[in-house]
Amino acid sequence: MGDDLNGVLDEIEKQGSMMEETREALQKKYGLRFGQAEKLVASMAVKKYVFKPSGKIVWIVVGREKEYFVIPKLYCQCDDFYINVVIRRKMDFCYHLFAQAIAEKRVSYEIFNVPDSDFRRLNNEWKKQSV
Ligand SMILES: [Zn+2]
Repeated sequence: MGDDLNGVLDEIEKQGSMMEETREALQKKYGLRFGQAEKLVASMAVKKYVFKPSGKIVWIVVGREKEYFVIPKLYCQCDDFYINVVIRRKMDFCYHLFAQAIAEKRVSYEIFNVPDSDFRRLNNEWKKQSV
């Protein structure tokens, strides 16, 4: 199992749904992060905004205190991502990215279809939260 998120996801994909064995392996390897990610997925904290008619997609993961703007496999707004991924380079992802990835694989997220005219307003709200 690779350390990067893609490797982890390939592993999940190979198994179709997540087998108990995979879950245990992920739990062992990623500990808290995996548990927290699964909890988020189970509570439908992952939201997919689809803007019409552009088709632009924005992923949001609702954390304990804030909503985080997430770019799949790449970026999350949270402190954990900033500290452990960007600064310390300890991990490739935070649990919000993990949650988004699991949710996308399982098609277990909430979808909001919104008009493009709402993009600026929503985007400003999401950006504001990072301060
Ligand atoms: Zn995060």
